[in-house]
Amino acid sequence: MIEIKNLTKVYPSRGGAVTALDGVDLSVAPGSVYGVVGRSGAGKSTLIRCVNLLERPTSGTVWVAGRELTALSPKQLRAERRRIGMVFQHFNLLSSRTARENVELPLEIGPGGARLTRRERRTRALELLDVVGLADRADAHPAQLSGGQKQRVGIARALAADPHVLLSDEATSALDPETTRSVLKLLKRVNEHLGVTVLLITHEMEVVKAVCDSAALMEDGRIAESGTIGDLLTRE
Ligand code: ADP
Ligand code: ADP
Repeated sequence: MIEIKNLTKVYPSRGGAVTALDGVDLSVAPGSVYGVVGRSGAGKSTLIRCVNLLERPTSGTVWVAGRELTALSPKQLRAERRRIGMVFQHFNLLSSRTARENVELPLEIGPGGARLTRRERRTRALELLDVVGLADRADAHPAQLSGGQKQRVGIARALAADPHVLLSDEATSALDPETTRSVLKLLKRVNEHLGVTVLLITHEMEVVKAVCDSAALMEDGRIAESGTIGDLLTRE
């Protein structure tokens, strides 16, 4: 579902260029939950931001759902990106909008979104809030929600455009252990019931053990080890 080949990212910087990714190969099977784990500075955020081309790789190719994103025009890329949901560490919700309105955002903007009527968008957002267990908080603003609830809204929003792939950028790093467990359970449920492939990055091995089928360990912009969770734990 996600195929990354020889991905390199070099950031120009005053003190000399920084090589954040150094020839990364990664293959995420359809329907799986794949984790990339590593210390701060290992290159995880750069990698996940290169998957939907929020960041332009210096070289290498990225395929998602059978399309080579690195070869698309900006217009084609905008359309493909709608099928890639993203969940963020700090939720990135609009504070002036309610939970429901936040979930409606991906349906309002971008190509295709205009095809839904207001009523349809509203219905879809309420369905998604129900999926994440927040049907009764649809009219709450982010400030009135707990961290875990905010992340549930973030997940519902990421699912709004019916994505093939969900990218999770340290989605539980700002949450306490118990909330982390419940948000991870939700991600797993989304994966199993909706068939969405999940690629997550984390600095916590516990997160990988809890939900991933396969994982890669990143060090200094390279994949140091990868395999199924069973393999990796035996090698540990
Ligand atoms: P991680 O997510 O594993 O903490 P990052 O991808 O954020 O790693 O960073 C990898 C390396 O790239 C680090 O050395 C970081 O300082 C550098 N880096 C990340 N973003 C930028 C940027 N916009 N400009 C320059 N260097 C960056
Ligand atoms: P927080 O710790 O942020 O309050 P919770 O994990 O307690 O988040 O969940 C928030 C709401 O979602 C609660 O009302 C809870 O009952 C509900 N909830 C939790 N897990 C699920 C689930 N798997 N399916 C549906 N609803 C859930």
